[in-house]
Amino acid sequence: MVNVMSYNKVTDRLIKELEHIVGSENLTTKPEELYCYSFDGTIQHHIPEVVVRPKDTSQVSEIVKLANREKIPITPRGSGTGLSGATIPTFGGIVMDTTRMNQILDIDIENMIAIVEAGVICDGLNAELAKYGYCFPPDPGSSSICTIGGMVGTNAGGNKALKYGVTKDHVLWLEVVLPSGEIIKTGSHVLKSSSALDITRLMIGSEGVLGIVTKVGIKLTPLPKYTSTELFLFDAVAAAAKAVVKVRVAGIVPTMLEFMDLPTTEATFEYAGLEGYPEGYYLLLECDGFHQEAVESEFTKAVEFSMTEKPIYYEKAEDLKHRDKLLSARKSALPALSRLRPTTCIEDCTVLVTKLPEAAMKIEEIPSQLGVEGFGLGNFGHVGDGNMHPTFFFDERVDSQREAFYKALDILYKDIVIPLGGSITGEHGLGIVKTPYIGHELGSTVKIWYDIKKLLDPNLILNPGKGKGGPYPLVCE
Ligand SMILES: Cc1cc2nc3c(=O)[nH]c(=O)nc-3n(C[C@H](O)[C@H](O)[C@H](O)COP(=O)(O)OP(=O)(O)OC[C@H]3O[C@@H](n4cnc5c(N)ncnc54)[C@H](O)[C@@H]3O)c2cc1C
Repeated sequence: MVNVMSYNKVTDRLIKELEHIVGSENLTTKPEELYCYSFDGTIQHHIPEVVVRPKDTSQVSEIVKLANREKIPITPRGSGTGLSGATIPTFGGIVMDTTRMNQILDIDIENMIAIVEAGVICDGLNAELAKYGYCFPPDPGSSSICTIGGMVGTNAGGNKALKYGVTKDHVLWLEVVLPSGEIIKTGSHVLKSSSALDITRLMIGSEGVLGIVTKVGIKLTPLPKYTSTELFLFDAVAAAAKAVVKVRVAGIVPTMLEFMDLPTTEATFEYAGLEGYPEGYYLLLECDGFHQEAVESEFTKAVEFSMTEKPIYYEKAEDLKHRDKLLSARKSALPALSRLRPTTCIEDCTVLVTKLPEAAMKIEEIPSQLGVEGFGLGNFGHVGDGNMHPTFFFDERVDSQREAFYKALDILYKDIVIPLGGSITGEHGLGIVKTPYIGHELGSTVKIWYDIKKLLDPNLILNPGKGKGGPYPLVCE
């Protein structure tokens, strides 16, 4: 028999209790403010009943205890830049905005560890670390606004993940408020430890369904001193994808291998003011390190392998300003495509690099396969590790185009990515959008997640309705 979980509504009495915890100035029920918390970077939306902005762990714990006691859903939210619907308060209730918890608590250079609150902004942390010659390498396109808590929530990656890894590779431990309100620390405060079951890794990428992260212990990485960057333009998606495979097979691990297809290159070059280039598929190659000769030797080898795919154009960055200009096009992929049509939906998938040429060609054919006027695609991504972001642009108000979008998702995930042995998300998470497809990728393994969820959160109050917490029947009374 299936248990139907139901939720209660936020009452005036509850609002008073919440005000008592955070102060009335850090709570809102104003419709125009609630609206701002009803969406993320997807076309999904749902209005919460109340938004609270705690300032520390004990306030978070008090709020969660209250929500658990009253069976009110609670959705943790950083800056809301997520791209899978994971911050949408699908069942109303409380949205917890963590951005007031924004203190860098410690930078311990000798031990190469920093401790930050969950609401610290990624670029803000890196600006502080750069003063000491260190960094927190994950570099999502949203780094100027996204929070470290949100990066932990999605296990964010970005441009440099190929060489430096993703968020989970740089987090040592977490302070987490469990759905009961209990505050735990998930691991040891040292660079190496084998003393515990890895709750840290369980929490990272869990999209706020298992606990609310309040503090993060970060392992620091020295900032590389030298970079070499080259732009290539190819005349076909297959040539660009094959160049990536050749560089990887040669045993080279560049810092970046960033790709954009033809429509995306055109839109971003215009957006970023890069003029006079031939039409082509963009591939940006970058190597970095601490010794100039070593960087140049690896870079030269990578360029040679890329050249065998006969790019129609190539250009080496002469200095950092030039490099930033070439990279600015790639960094503006999403905003540039967003200017083409009223609706832009970015997707996220990963295939083995050897499958890249086939996957990229099949993805490119999706719009012509659907044949719907006004429905288009731009594809780009961190292709060095097989991660692509097919982005559909259309007008969601037009029935045929909206229907085409959902068909395109089925084609992308069920007909292309999963049969090629890929993953339906490389870095954005499942949220609401990917939940229908996860069973196709991982089969019965997902049942184990739901057992873990029920163990930690028997009332299913934390971020309900999101894939990693389980597709339970949930209703709001
Ligand atoms: C222009 C643009 C470019 C992007 N580029 C990249 C990219 O290159 N790589 C990449 O990986 N992503 C990228 N993203 C996606 C997104 O920015 C990242 O996932 C980011 O880490 C989310 O941070 P946030 O603070 O906005 O989190 P939110 O969107 O607010 O939350 C994301 C998830 O984490 C949970 N969460 C937030 N805070 C906490 C907390 N304290 N405790 C527990 N759970 C929490 C939320 O419930 C939600 O499930 C991009 C987004 C945009 C808009």
